[in-house]
Amino acid sequence: MDAAIDIKGLEKTYAGGKVALHGIDLMVPRGSIFGLLGPNGAGKSTTINILAGLVNKTGGTARIWGFDIDEHPRNAKRSIGIVPQELVFDAFFTPYETLEITAGMYGIPKAQRRTMDLLRAVRLEDKAHAYTRALSGGMKRRLLVAKALVHNPPVLVLDEPTAGVDIELRALLWTYVRELNAGGTTVVLTTHYLEEAEALCDRIAIVNGGRIVANDDTATLLATAGDKKLVVTLDAEMAAVPAGLPGRAGLSGEGRILTITYDKRTTTAGEVLAGVSAAGLTIVDVSTTEADLEDVFLSLTRAVA
Ligand code: ADP
Ligand code: MG
Repeated sequence: MDAAIDIKGLEKTYAGGKVALHGIDLMVPRGSIFGLLGPNGAGKSTTINILAGLVNKTGGTARIWGFDIDEHPRNAKRSIGIVPQELVFDAFFTPYETLEITAGMYGIPKAQRRTMDLLRAVRLEDKAHAYTRALSGGMKRRLLVAKALVHNPPVLVLDEPTAGVDIELRALLWTYVRELNAGGTTVVLTTHYLEEAEALCDRIAIVNGGRIVANDDTATLLATAGDKKLVVTLDAEMAAVPAGLPGRAGLSGEGRILTITYDKRTTTAGEVLAGVSAAGLTIVDVSTTEADLEDVFLSLTRAVA
């Protein structure tokens, strides 16, 4: 048993009839930083909220650290810490009190609480006794991270942790996530920022329209992506992309840079370059790049609305 989270056939139809999850299977290996990536409305929060016990599933099973959420709800809950997408708080408590109350709810004896350590870890020690309502959005987000870690869960789930936060906080959160993971915590994060998933996650599942459309380690996902890009510098300016080139072509750099995106499973770079020459263009310089996650993501999510 080395799954941190094991989801099978998970379904959710909301009361109004909206089908948010069409029976998804998802296994998060222990020790990983796992990215659940998808556009808005894909079903990421629904999945997370089912694990958190905030939303009732309408089908399938889910295990957290080996505990089935129906059969062993208490153990399942103790194994996971969740930072919700929405900033929900009791604004009249201080950060210190918020963490102490949470520790109390988990039945953690005073001597074993780590309140100040956690506040230090998220750089909120100087706000320990300030009113939560006086905190900035970024500080509230950090407090929620600390709150999710009060009971020292082996799995931490962050739902859109950096949506709408500034670059500085984003960097701080990334660093902290890496530190936690290095210390043994399995981290799951949902995001619609591709570069975030690409930079942080060793495994990525892409969800779209309530279905998993890809699930692989990040490097494989990128390597098996069909698209490759060839960037050609021309000796003269072009007014328009010539007809008859293989792949999809675009012009930039005042008409001297031709970027051709092609499927490397069906087309070789040589064929692309031959096509450029056949169109009567003179090539000054050439470089190639692998498709980035954005290309993969777009090609996988294009089909489903
Ligand atoms: P994501 O987090 O990936 O943006 P969500 O899980 O929040 O997606 O939403 C998935 C789908 O379920 C969306 O179509 C959304 O409108 C719908 N949905 C989410 N919450 C509710 C709800 N409480 N009632 C009805 N539909 C909902
Ligand atoms: Mg969401």
